[in-house]
Amino acid sequence: MKLHIQNNFTSQLPADSLEANVPRQVYEACFSFVDPLKPSRPILIHASTEVAEEIGLSKEDLQSDDFLNIFSGNTIYAGTKPFAMCYAGHQFGNWAGQLGDGRAINLTEITNKNKSFTLQLKGAGPTPYSRTADGFAVLRSSIREYLCAEAMFHLGVPTTRSLSLMLSGDQVLRDVLYNGNPAYEQGAIVSRVAPTFIRFGSFEIFASRKDLVNLKLLTDFTIKKHFPNIKEEDVHKYLRFFEEVTQATLKMIVEWQRVGFVHGVMNTDNMSIHGITIDYGPYGWLEDYDSGWTPNTTDNQHKRYRFGNQPEIALWNLYQLANALYPLIDDAKALEAILEAYTSNYEKKYLSMMQDKLGLQNKLNDDLFLVNRLTELLEKAETDMTIFFRNLSNITKEDSAVLAFDRIKDAFYNEKELIEDTLKYWHDWFEIYTFRINEQILTDLERKEKMNLVNPKYVLRNYISQLCIDDSEKGDYSLLNELFEILKNPYDEQPDFQKWFAKRPDWARNKVGSSMLSCSS
Ligand code: AMP
Ligand code: MG
Repeated sequence: MKLHIQNNFTSQLPADSLEANVPRQVYEACFSFVDPLKPSRPILIHASTEVAEEIGLSKEDLQSDDFLNIFSGNTIYAGTKPFAMCYAGHQFGNWAGQLGDGRAINLTEITNKNKSFTLQLKGAGPTPYSRTADGFAVLRSSIREYLCAEAMFHLGVPTTRSLSLMLSGDQVLRDVLYNGNPAYEQGAIVSRVAPTFIRFGSFEIFASRKDLVNLKLLTDFTIKKHFPNIKEEDVHKYLRFFEEVTQATLKMIVEWQRVGFVHGVMNTDNMSIHGITIDYGPYGWLEDYDSGWTPNTTDNQHKRYRFGNQPEIALWNLYQLANALYPLIDDAKALEAILEAYTSNYEKKYLSMMQDKLGLQNKLNDDLFLVNRLTELLEKAETDMTIFFRNLSNITKEDSAVLAFDRIKDAFYNEKELIEDTLKYWHDWFEIYTFRINEQILTDLERKEKMNLVNPKYVLRNYISQLCIDDSEKGDYSLLNELFEILKNPYDEQPDFQKWFAKRPDWARNKVGSSMLSCSS
């Protein structure tokens, strides 16, 4: 097994001067060197051949002892020195101070085919940033992270990738609902891959400590290594960097809204500077379309991270990044101009994305009315988002409003909920929609094909991952293997797997793990 090591982050940025692995505040450093803890009995559950290929590993490599040992933290790859990153963050809108990689350990940076990657283990033991927690992860949350990152990638949503999922052989104590009922669960380790794991909080920590030397060092490093297209100098360079992060973040949020993904913990320590989705914790997928829904029980009271609030929160987080970069820029107006453009750009991109979902190629500004009315109606009665949009592509130009409506009826959880008024509203909506469809140049079939490229058939529904977890906890990984394959082609019909194109069953409505998740992972 051969990796092309390239330790830029650790060789060009300041390290923690202490090497003792004890929880502490770490100053004037971007990271601490720390080795993973040796797992008792690592077992490989699954590995991604595609991600392996991305980083220059073969199928055979994945089966090797070397792979098992290195990606479980049992041994350290020659010439590398694992490290945990130091960062801070705003959690649920409040300043939380130093956070850092409390249970993530970066193995190394590598290059392959002119691309750089950081390889990271999640759940491989404590670091100086673990605070009072143990540094481990359980099988349940590791399956959720492992599967979802890959599902998102294949949906076309910017994300970290998953390389492998292993059991550590150790038991980990968790209180799933924080209600005083801790129980032992199987420990697991996910290895994940990203161009970098630098996040908004990486800059916030130095700004909050008025450590401008390291703030500048980190920002210059990040731009040079990760935004090589930025050619501006001085203040303009930093402004351009902020603008690029803003645009990438916006793009990611539009994609989340397109597929119905709710991150659940959009704290600034979970916001990547590349605008890729990181840290799959108490995330969830909209089943019934509800802009007020959050899967995260910790956020139940204020629902700060609810589906409909994600664009707003991303902007809030960008304000925090702007504040952190301000000492390098010293031009509030210029930063504000970028932040203000976010809102209008978001509105434009959102409308365009929704027009794509509706199959409207000749895009009119008036479609905003159609889109807004649709999202209102989707909330009036429980309606499955994925099924609704997928079935919408079955409508033909000849359909009456009533027939068009009939084609999406499967998406309702309880048709009886559709009282007379609502039914009339729906018919009115389809009246306009079918009119708009008839203005499209594409044939019905062409439009259907186009729509099916943006409206997935298969997403990692909350209840499906819970079923997969239940089986996996008993040692049966067949569903995990199956889901991993299905989710590689989320836009394909895959008739053999039609059973996963189904509404959430009743048992999952209020079930822990399906509709209610906590940060306990
Ligand atoms: P999250 O919101 O899951 O990204 O985590 C927020 C912070 O808590 C990060 O600094 C994590 O590293 C840390 N953290 C979460 N779970 C653990 C754990 N089991 N052990 C140590 N640190 C943790
Ligand atoms: Mg995190």
